[in-house]
Amino acid sequence: MNLPQPAENAGTQALTVLFVDQSGQLGGAEFALLSLAGLYASRGKVVLLSEGPFRTRLEALGVHVQVIGSKHVSNIHRQSMRFGWLRALPGIASQVRAIAAEAKRFDVLFLNTQKALVLGALGKPFHRRPVIWYLHDIMSAQHFGFVQRVIVKWMVRHMVDRVVANSHASAQALAALTGCATDTLAVVHNGIDTSIFDSFGTLDAGDIAALRRRLGLPEHVWLAGLFGRIAPWKGQHVAIAALARLHDVHLVLVGDALYGEHAYAQELHSLAQRLGVTERVHFVGFRDDVPAWMKAMDVIVHTSTEPEPFGRVIVEGMAATKPVIATAAGGVTEIIRHRHNGWLVQLGDEKELADAVSTLRASPDLAQRLADQGRADAQRDFSLDGFLRKMTQEIANTARQ
Ligand code: UDP
Repeated sequence: MNLPQPAENAGTQALTVLFVDQSGQLGGAEFALLSLAGLYASRGKVVLLSEGPFRTRLEALGVHVQVIGSKHVSNIHRQSMRFGWLRALPGIASQVRAIAAEAKRFDVLFLNTQKALVLGALGKPFHRRPVIWYLHDIMSAQHFGFVQRVIVKWMVRHMVDRVVANSHASAQALAALTGCATDTLAVVHNGIDTSIFDSFGTLDAGDIAALRRRLGLPEHVWLAGLFGRIAPWKGQHVAIAALARLHDVHLVLVGDALYGEHAYAQELHSLAQRLGVTERVHFVGFRDDVPAWMKAMDVIVHTSTEPEPFGRVIVEGMAATKPVIATAAGGVTEIIRHRHNGWLVQLGDEKELADAVSTLRASPDLAQRLADQGRADAQRDFSLDGFLRKMTQEIANTARQ
């Protein structure tokens, strides 16, 4: 990853930052933090609340990582907060103390997930450091339980100095929850290192066939790629149902059940079997080389059935110069403009998705035009450089508060 240097203004070079993230897995929030923590490697540190591949990726960038884990706290899940919290209380108290003790050694405390928010912000009376929260979720009742929303509301009102949302959609949902004005919340979209996609150069049909061979994919069929963790709201079932309406097209599902959604993964296999498309669905699991997998596709589809807070995979598909079809809700509509730089479909509508794939397949010129515009827009609006510059500025502003 090529990391630009931080902005040379606002005294940002001297600021030290403690980052906290609850996950050891690699989701969108963690990829966003990876580049930012890499930028601050020499004067920052990351505290994780669980072990996992995220740690290895951070350390490969020279980032100092500490894991402060508690089984009981890790076991608290979104919808089962009521009793989970009680059992987890001693673990919570010790994690709050441990994070506060670390935070005292830094200028700013940067919290990247919701458990990180709770554990980091609760210790504010002890560490007295300015707190910034990078919000990666749409805080709606659809997604989060009542208790969790009340806790977040209280934290934001009393313990957080600055909230930065990953999209206007995330900011608006938080404003609705907390009653705070939207213009008090900053919005910084994720940035993507588009240079990784450039390293492939221009691929002709022969290059793509060779790439597919290397990845173990069929060489001479039309490939639709769906990237993202396996989870019901990511809508892999919609893509499989759409596939049953299409002939000759194959679907590649890239991603894994990162947070225990194994029953859903199993259902997807059964669904493919029931619809008679098993031969045309390729489950390839989590991949570290997403740019190569994207380059091997004819179209990238995004099928979330609930509003996506941001959707890095959409920008990555655009950066790969592939036509992207995505569901029209949440942060996605801040990235894709229908028929301009991509194609929007309604949530959960397998027929519309199948029609969109057919349209792009039948019109290679249209598909190429969308892909070219998508590439230009990804580079202009969602660059890694721009993301790091804006985030560095937000951290500096928070330190001054
Ligand atoms: N990703 C990956 N390997 C996979 C599947 C996904 O590295 O097999 C990455 C993907 O490239 C993207 C991130 O995981 O950068 C997912 O982020 P997104 O914002 O799309 O979804 P989230 O995980 O935040 O819901």
